[in-house]
Amino acid sequence: MNHPPKRPILPGQTLGVMGGGQLGRMFVHAAQRMGYFTAVLDPDAASPAGLVSHTHIRTDYLDAQGLAELARVSAAITTEFENVPAQALAQLAATRPVAPGGDAVAVAQDRAREKAHFTRCGVPCAPNAVIETPAQLAAVGNDLLPGILKTARLGYDGKGQVRVATREALAQAWNDLRQVPCVLEKMLPLAAECSVVVARGADGQMVHLPVQLNLHREGILAVTEVHQGVLPPARAQQAIEATRSIAQGLGYVGVLCVEFFILQDGSLVVNEMAPRPHNSGHWSLDACDVSQFELQVRALAGLPLVQPRAHSPAIMLNLLGDLWFREGAKTASEPDWAAVLALSGAHLHLYGKTEARPGRKMGHLTFTGPDVAAVRANALAACDVLGLAPF
Ligand code: ATP
Ligand code: MG
Repeated sequence: MNHPPKRPILPGQTLGVMGGGQLGRMFVHAAQRMGYFTAVLDPDAASPAGLVSHTHIRTDYLDAQGLAELARVSAAITTEFENVPAQALAQLAATRPVAPGGDAVAVAQDRAREKAHFTRCGVPCAPNAVIETPAQLAAVGNDLLPGILKTARLGYDGKGQVRVATREALAQAWNDLRQVPCVLEKMLPLAAECSVVVARGADGQMVHLPVQLNLHREGILAVTEVHQGVLPPARAQQAIEATRSIAQGLGYVGVLCVEFFILQDGSLVVNEMAPRPHNSGHWSLDACDVSQFELQVRALAGLPLVQPRAHSPAIMLNLLGDLWFREGAKTASEPDWAAVLALSGAHLHLYGKTEARPGRKMGHLTFTGPDVAAVRANALAACDVLGLAPF
């Protein structure tokens, strides 16, 4: 039993989620708002989702008893991070609907399998080579340099990635990564980056959010903008079609985000996918009639998926732990939220993490407003208040 049941799971029942991070927290909020009870499995006593869920099962992701308890209390189960062990999803799926299914998550967990899937769907990705053995390392073509060596598994926010310009640097980087399976990608001349969130039901019905324009800094998402005209319409349509075919090809059930590069010649290249709501879709909480988290609830519960409508232009700023350490301060101090909240169209989301650390995602701030100019002016004013680099 891998997919949501034919009859919808209605509010009043319990929805479960593997993982207690901020994505789980926003899923829990969306589910609770609709009248569901929630259960979170996460070992951390202070996990952002565990703190707000009706039930928090505090065990390891592979703990058989913890998983049995999650399955017992939940009518259906989803996941909020892609590195949830396949074995855990398989145990849950033996007795409960699980969406997305373990097979789709397994593809997203592995850059090599992910790229093979993109290619199968006819969506071009960066020229690349899988490096699992010294022979494969030796066989790498010079045309892939300069490139980025990425671990095949367990990378996020630019972690597990090394930029390499020469064969020597490549060999050194692979050694430094302890020769784990990797993918070497050619470094592409990026003009921009964008992403698309889709939700697909067990019946194959699919809806999507508008294309999101993303700015990364040091491998971490910094700013997302969504409004008419972030991309030429034909390019936006191409990204949506590519995302739909990637979801379709996986027989996917749930929310899926696909990230793309737009090259300097205007062409579109797929980067990677996340089998869950995505940081670049957080703006939908405040600027859409149906958010990516409500879509996750609906897809999991087998409820109708309706095409979300953006009712405002939006700009989202990620709030990393760095903001708690202004001008090289040694101890953390809270940013001036009152000044931020004085700006019109500000929607502040903090994830309830007690300890701020550089690079840690502490929250996000979305601006909405009557037009793009107003939204941008307020977002830039917030950057100024917070000490964030303008975009
Ligand atoms: P995420 O947090 O999105 O999971 P990640 O650690 O999986 O991140 P990627 O999305 O692979 O990392 O890369 C992070 C960023 O590095 C990209 O958004 C892009 O800005 C840059 N980047 C990655 N691969 C390439 C490439 N082949 N050419 C140019 N820039 C790249
Ligand atoms: Mg990425």
